[in-house]
Amino acid sequence: MRRPRSSTTLPVVIAVVVAAAGIAASAPAASPYDLVLNNGGASTVPAAAPAGGATTDGAGGAAPGAAPSTGAASTTPTTTTPPATPAVPRIAPLRLHAATLRQDGHALVFDLSTRDPWTAASLLRGKRSLCVRLVYDDGGFQSRDVCASRRGAGMTIARVLQSGRHGPLHTLDGARTSRPTRRSLLARLDPHTIGLPYAPVHWRALSTTDGCIVSERASCYEALPQASAIIDLHAPQPIGCTATGPSYVTNGSRTKKVVALTFDDGPSIYTSRYLDVLEGAKIPAATFFMIGEQVAGNGALLKRELADGYELGDHTWSHPNVAGGGAFAAGQITSTANAIQTASGFRPCLFRAPGGAVSGSLTSGARALGFTTIEWDVDPQDWARPGTDAIYSRIMSQVRPGSIILMHDGGGPREQTLAALPRVIASLKARGYGFVTVGQMIGSQLRYG
Ligand SMILES: [Zn+2]
Repeated sequence: MRRPRSSTTLPVVIAVVVAAAGIAASAPAASPYDLVLNNGGASTVPAAAPAGGATTDGAGGAAPGAAPSTGAASTTPTTTTPPATPAVPRIAPLRLHAATLRQDGHALVFDLSTRDPWTAASLLRGKRSLCVRLVYDDGGFQSRDVCASRRGAGMTIARVLQSGRHGPLHTLDGARTSRPTRRSLLARLDPHTIGLPYAPVHWRALSTTDGCIVSERASCYEALPQASAIIDLHAPQPIGCTATGPSYVTNGSRTKKVVALTFDDGPSIYTSRYLDVLEGAKIPAATFFMIGEQVAGNGALLKRELADGYELGDHTWSHPNVAGGGAFAAGQITSTANAIQTASGFRPCLFRAPGGAVSGSLTSGARALGFTTIEWDVDPQDWARPGTDAIYSRIMSQVRPGSIILMHDGGGPREQTLAALPRVIASLKARGYGFVTVGQMIGSQLRYG
């Protein structure tokens, strides 16, 4: 494999890119794209970078210009008659048309378009790169280049990142790319997979040719925006969920060894103690079906539940029998959803009927309002206070993979359930059960703001 002339400047990057090009030569031209990370160490960002970090790197400073690719233009003449040899076309970077970067819940969405069409084959044949450079400050500037590269079996290059130099390209877990048009690339990735913090991140799209050093050769790259932009990444907050699948559910799949712990009739004076138990046992998921008229004033409790990863559900405004459906049921459900949303910022999509009293008109009416009606398949009758041992043994004798377990954190004295809960959790863990929210169990999608 030919080594580009600039290889002494960028040994790691070029080694990786040449290898990638070799792999690509035998891959089909229409193959999809992976996102790969070209993980620059801290020293790839100018030491003197201002708060803007990346803002200097395209302005001709001592920039982290080292972009993956070239070599194609560096053919070494073997003859002394240059005028008779057709000139090798100069490889130019793809011209950029537009670039945006936004956060969508847990994902970072990169939308790039060029002025001219391109394909995987032409990208690699020209040894061009299309990347987004991300720079953040964690006490020193850190740089990450995420580049489009053709998918290929050999692209998961396993070389250890070298601090202070460009590391190898490797595929990003969970990243998805698409080509809406021949001039565009749309990519979604989890910022955690490239180590980005929830903090301001400077970014810009970079279109380069192999061996391009941004600080030395302005003709070998295009950047957009020229002086970098800032995206303020924030921890995603669930703002609601979308009901999918059957409109009435009593349990999840029997093939997965998980259960959903559910708690009805709160929020109450007991709820924070339930959360103490669940948090102490590091339970990652639970679901609270709450009564609307009890929500006001308990916003902090609801937010604590959300922060724990727990889901909020709708259990009507005042706990009447709503099996008749119609406007009465709709009012009970909607007013509660509104109260939960006002108090917590989260709009529920799970509904549980008081007493489990349901009908076809109720479940279809609830679905029309955007809810899945959730019942249970494990009921210890804890509301009747049969004793802590009875609550525990009833749950453990009924539980199966996919069970939705009914308990109560409100509606009366709840010391018995509260005392049974740590034992229930310990035994479920001992039997190998995992814990999911009802939404996770049935596949409803959370929406993030
Ligand atoms: Zn209830």
